[in-house]
Amino acid sequence: MKNLLNCPICKSGEIKERFYTGIKDPYNCISGEFYFNKCTKCDNLFLGNPFNQKDIAFVYPKNYSKFENKLFNKIRKLLAIRLIDKVLSQVQNRKDFRILEIGAGSGLFSKYFFRKGYKVTATDIDEMEMQALSKIGIDIKIGNFEDLVFEEKYDLIIMSHVIEHFYHPQQIVNKIKGFINDNGQIFIKTPNSTFLFLRWFKNHTYVFDAPRHLNIFSEKSIKILFADPSFVTTVKNEFTVNELYNFFKLKFPRLNYKYYLLFTALLFPFAVIPYLFKRSSRLVVTVKNNEHSS
Ligand SMILES: [Zn+2]
Repeated sequence: MKNLLNCPICKSGEIKERFYTGIKDPYNCISGEFYFNKCTKCDNLFLGNPFNQKDIAFVYPKNYSKFENKLFNKIRKLLAIRLIDKVLSQVQNRKDFRILEIGAGSGLFSKYFFRKGYKVTATDIDEMEMQALSKIGIDIKIGNFEDLVFEEKYDLIIMSHVIEHFYHPQQIVNKIKGFINDNGQIFIKTPNSTFLFLRWFKNHTYVFDAPRHLNIFSEKSIKILFADPSFVTTVKNEFTVNELYNFFKLKFPRLNYKYYLLFTALLFPFAVIPYLFKRSSRLVVTVKNNEHSS
């Protein structure tokens, strides 16, 4: 029997259907079970039974980005900011740098860089969040990224936990290529499909986050998205402790959070192992546009 499925990223037909089944919405907003297919060529996982794109508003619970606003995520974002700060100091630390944050949510990145004096544009479908950013003076664009029009070019584009949500990520990347400056950089954080404990954690991790995550990228598949002679893509595993914390939180939802902290501290080596194997739960990707540089 001919396999009719193709990998949405590398287009290979070498697919293991229903590689992960019985996946539930970790936020308990959407009922039912979901499954992910796996591309054996690029290790990409893709949601086998997604919602229709026109029902996207239904798939996102109100204040979805607020769910992310917990202590650990704040720490994670602050660590990411340090990473980006490093990027900014490596290139020229010019204040006329234009920064674009796609899927900004509550805008922690945007606010941080805006306060540092950079020109920041934030985009999101969440109107309330965007209006709040607009009030403090950040340039905003509200709507589906697919529909937004960009007239300026940007030196740094940030997409933190965003690219896995798009229906057509390659189209998104192609669109971004149109407004990244020469020598500009793209900074991406996204879950990792080759996370060592993925099968074991299954419904006790936010890596799947069905039905909102449509593609879970691997080092290989994310590089395919940016395969272009003028781009240089670097992929790193992120060391994360909060994956363990989330595991306990989702496994034992009724306990006080202090127990999650205690369990996490006790089982700390389990946070280190995936990182040592370069199979941690998250990827940090930097893409440099080297066009016109010699
Ligand atoms: Zn593939």
